[in-house]
Amino acid sequence: MASKVRLYVDHPLGEGQSVPLSRDQAHYLFGVMRLGEGTVLSLINSRDGEWDAEIVKAGNKGGILTCQAQTRPLQTPPDLWLVFAPIRKERTAFIVEKAVEMGAARIIPVQTDYTQGANRIRQDKLQAHAVEAAEQCGGTFVPPVDDLQKLDRILADWPADRQLMFCDEAKIGDPIGLPDLRGPWAILIGPEGGFSPTEREKLHALPYSHPVSLGPRILRADTAAVAALTVWQQALGDWG
Ligand code: SAM
Repeated sequence: MASKVRLYVDHPLGEGQSVPLSRDQAHYLFGVMRLGEGTVLSLINSRDGEWDAEIVKAGNKGGILTCQAQTRPLQTPPDLWLVFAPIRKERTAFIVEKAVEMGAARIIPVQTDYTQGANRIRQDKLQAHAVEAAEQCGGTFVPPVDDLQKLDRILADWPADRQLMFCDEAKIGDPIGLPDLRGPWAILIGPEGGFSPTEREKLHALPYSHPVSLGPRILRADTAAVAALTVWQQALGDWG
């Protein structure tokens, strides 16, 4: 039997709750997936877990679903942000997709000194990738993807209690060096050109910043993001 279609909706979910569909959602369910009235699918909304919902009205420009029963509770990831310098479009999309699968709670693209082509970043497209990734990986939570911000700006507003796993290519070959500190964290990944000397100096001086090595080889930024998420989740996250 084909697995149930999963759909993210920005609407409350609960027993007997009616959920209206947008034109795009109706097109996807009825046009692309060829589902009809009476079909049951899974809904998520980042707040109420996963619900079975039946299609009660299918139209060209919209439709209505009715929630039946909760099939999974909400599972939120650990309080981990992924802060990364965007790279080429499809590789940036890959980073967002993998961050959702690996369990990041917030995704923040940042402009660093050596970030290239950041003006081509579309927050709405990246958020749509995050939604799609959660729908496909069985997640019940979609992390928000922020608009691009300058690294200086985000560091200026940094919450005092949040540790920073600064993935520093200059630490190549050192032991990983992730301290066993519990609580909120963020991972920082640089662009293909790495961090500038000024940025590195600043990042080393911050009390909450922990320079970390990702092994004896230079990883591409997209690989580094997945590797850092793996290292953090295994040591301090919800994989244990
Ligand atoms: N151009 C840089 C160089 O040659 O040293 C490499 C930058 S690397 C492609 C992109 C980002 O991935 C780095 O800024 C860093 O955040 C992370 N990274 C890659 N390999 C790493 C490693 N072995 N240790 C720590 N961070 C690494």
